[in-house]
Amino acid sequence: MLCGMGEFDLIARYFTRPTAHAVLGVGDDCALLQPAPGTQLAISSDMLVEGRHFFADVDPAALGHKALAVNLSDLAACGAKPLAFTLALSLPRVDETWLAGFSKGLLALADAHGCELVGGDTTQGPLNICITVFGEVPVVSGKSQALLRSGAKPGDDVYVSGTLGDARLALEALRGAVTLPPDLLAQARLRLEQPTPRVALGQALRGIASAAIDVSDGLLGDLRHILRTSSAGATLETSNAINLVATSQDTALARAGFDTEKQLEFVLAGGDDYELAFTAPASARDAVQAAARQAHTAVSRIGRIDANPGLRLLDAAGALIERRYASFDHFA
Ligand code: ADP
Ligand code: MG
Repeated sequence: MLCGMGEFDLIARYFTRPTAHAVLGVGDDCALLQPAPGTQLAISSDMLVEGRHFFADVDPAALGHKALAVNLSDLAACGAKPLAFTLALSLPRVDETWLAGFSKGLLALADAHGCELVGGDTTQGPLNICITVFGEVPVVSGKSQALLRSGAKPGDDVYVSGTLGDARLALEALRGAVTLPPDLLAQARLRLEQPTPRVALGQALRGIASAAIDVSDGLLGDLRHILRTSSAGATLETSNAINLVATSQDTALARAGFDTEKQLEFVLAGGDDYELAFTAPASARDAVQAAARQAHTAVSRIGRIDANPGLRLLDAAGALIERRYASFDHFA
């Protein structure tokens, strides 16, 4: 409930649209969804808090995009097809310019993925955006096709999609820690403020990847979740991570005056990348590349899973890197 005028007008104007797939959308006590026969629902929530996840003056359309993108990224990591989402919104005041921008960015990304806004809640308070997404995963012969964190096996290859480190570079620039040339800042900001969830890649990797996670807190930290739940370890060739993963911003980071050490930190532990990290048996290398082509998303092989617990990083000469990289943790 939003105090003052217009809670229901606000919902009607900015967040109510006819539904194409959902049985019932905004306007009743519950929305109704009908998952296709032979599928399971995949469900995930992500919250964005002002001052914590975004700056107060961020472009509202970009914020609308990001709020849904981070949720779609979780569906991607499970190999789920997006169906619908709900939006719980806490707003300090009714600012129509802000609402128009926010809903435009949000609903444009929703339309691009056929993911319908079917309900939510609206209240007055500090700016806070919580989205819950619902997706669909097939069940084949009684077995869920969802990609889990727990399936990595010794001998599997480790991959990551796209590039890493750009979002962190933008964050450093916005904090004033570094000055970037305008073209580079614009490119990095796009990755920070309007990330691309790898939805097509996640679905293409069903039946191929043995484990998957989306990279939100930093590659190493997120990979450790796979290792823990899979009871395995991994060895990463960081020169591959730099050469294969970071080619686009390798030079960008160098231009910004960051040395190799700093570049590696951003790539391995930068956070906010929303790429997919995943594992697959060595016998599936061709299938992984075919999935990547089908999804129009580059993937790079950066290491392997081994039985020995822990995460080891090798430099270009194959020597062990001793330095530890800390990924993001809200309470650490
Ligand atoms: P209730 O009081 O039953 O929780 P509300 O009055 O909060 O219902 O909301 C009325 C309708 O508007 C519901 O269908 C709800 O899902 C929807 N709704 C509320 N806020 C939003 C929002 N920010 N975006 C989309 N739908 C919303
Ligand atoms: Mg309500």
